[in-house]
Amino acid sequence: MSEPKKLYIKTYGCQMNVYDSERMAETLGGQGYVETQSPDDADMILLNTCHIREKAAEKVYSELGRFKGLKAEKPDLKIGVAGCVAQAEGEEIMRRQPLVDLVVGPQSYHRLPEMEAKTREGAKALDTDFPEEDKFEKLKNRPKAKRGPTAFLTVQEGCDKFCAFCVVPYTRGAEVSRPVDRIVREAQDLVERGVREITLLGQNVNAYHGAGPNGDMTLAGLIWELNKVDGLERIRFTTSHPNDMADDLIEAHGTCEKLMPYLHLPVQSGSDRILKRMNRSHTAESYLRLIERIRAARPDIVMSGDFIVGFPEETDEDFQATMDLVEQIKYGYAYSFKYSTRPGTPAAERSQVDPGVADDRLQRLQGLITRHQREIQDAMVGRKVRVLFEKTGRLPGQMVGKSEYLHSVHVSDADVEIGALRDVLIIGSGANSLAGQLL
Ligand code: SAM
Ligand code: SF4
Repeated sequence: MSEPKKLYIKTYGCQMNVYDSERMAETLGGQGYVETQSPDDADMILLNTCHIREKAAEKVYSELGRFKGLKAEKPDLKIGVAGCVAQAEGEEIMRRQPLVDLVVGPQSYHRLPEMEAKTREGAKALDTDFPEEDKFEKLKNRPKAKRGPTAFLTVQEGCDKFCAFCVVPYTRGAEVSRPVDRIVREAQDLVERGVREITLLGQNVNAYHGAGPNGDMTLAGLIWELNKVDGLERIRFTTSHPNDMADDLIEAHGTCEKLMPYLHLPVQSGSDRILKRMNRSHTAESYLRLIERIRAARPDIVMSGDFIVGFPEETDEDFQATMDLVEQIKYGYAYSFKYSTRPGTPAAERSQVDPGVADDRLQRLQGLITRHQREIQDAMVGRKVRVLFEKTGRLPGQMVGKSEYLHSVHVSDADVEIGALRDVLIIGSGANSLAGQLL
């Protein structure tokens, strides 16, 4: 038997890319590839890229440059670029970095086997189509090998919202939802392989409207279907848009036992003027009222969000409105970014905020978010949570898992296996995690 070929995949960006990387590795598995953790012994290197901010794209080019030596030593080594940089830059990548053999966009990676074969014949392969066929249908069934207790499952892709700062509608294309039965089958397969928690993914996951047995189903409908899957213990979903937070989804947060009390609901800014300029079509007030309704349905829910500071024309007053909103909501987690100009998006043409001012605002916002994060975490001390154990810790005998609120919890001298779900008393709170004791 011939030696398996080795594939090294490096993933940048969001969880959807993590899911795509898994699927790409699986599909190349059919071509005799096994994954390796090091580029040094790889026969193929694939960078699954992110284009959301300028730095993310530049990182890809500098990483590619580092493979020059490897390629010189091993001329048969194939180097590919996948993901949103591949989609946005296409052939330009091969022009800028001639060592690249293959460029594949996020909607055409089911064609990787043929593309890989083409590169083995010495040709370059490029595919950044938005094909008619459903890539998930074309991908091979997922292998049956055992895996860890948590998994991502993409249920929706693309976005029709066109926020003025964002490249996603251009790189991932129009919004598409996968049919309910395919998702349920994939979830059942994952559970058979040892998965107990599934995070449903989509750029706009709560806009989900996949075909069900009696017409289109909402995300809440899909969650209720998954709630019936035996052996699946926890359901999460990300990322949501405030405008698509439908009543049935809010209600599910109060009534669906497997749906976890954590919600990532980006708002981007607390200033109505900026929200309008961002084309977000919600206001700070409507967002606050929405969170009130969500908290009424599930009072202990932990909120998470995304913010952009230094969006073109953002004034001190606009920024203060963001700080005020954060103060009112108190997020358990929040991700804040300095605005990054993306060529081709409407905001790129507008008058930019001074980078020093934007840096200062970012620091202030992150300071406030960290304070709330810490307060919410500290308030967990003395409470009983349920932990899904995911891995061993750094110290001997230590096990680490996640609470229903997504807090990382570590337990010392714990007699539990990976995949166990156990009640834990929280006894301490550190910078980024909680300490617990099995009950
Ligand atoms: N669909 C989600 C939503 O509408 O909230 C977000 C998807 S986007 C992949 C993740 C986050 O990246 C956004 O919420 C936004 O905060 C940030 N982001 C997107 N474009 C950006 C830009 N040009 N500069 C800085 N941050 C950006
Ligand atoms: Fe980007 Fe999200 Fe806006 Fe869509 S809704 S354009 S993915 S930020």
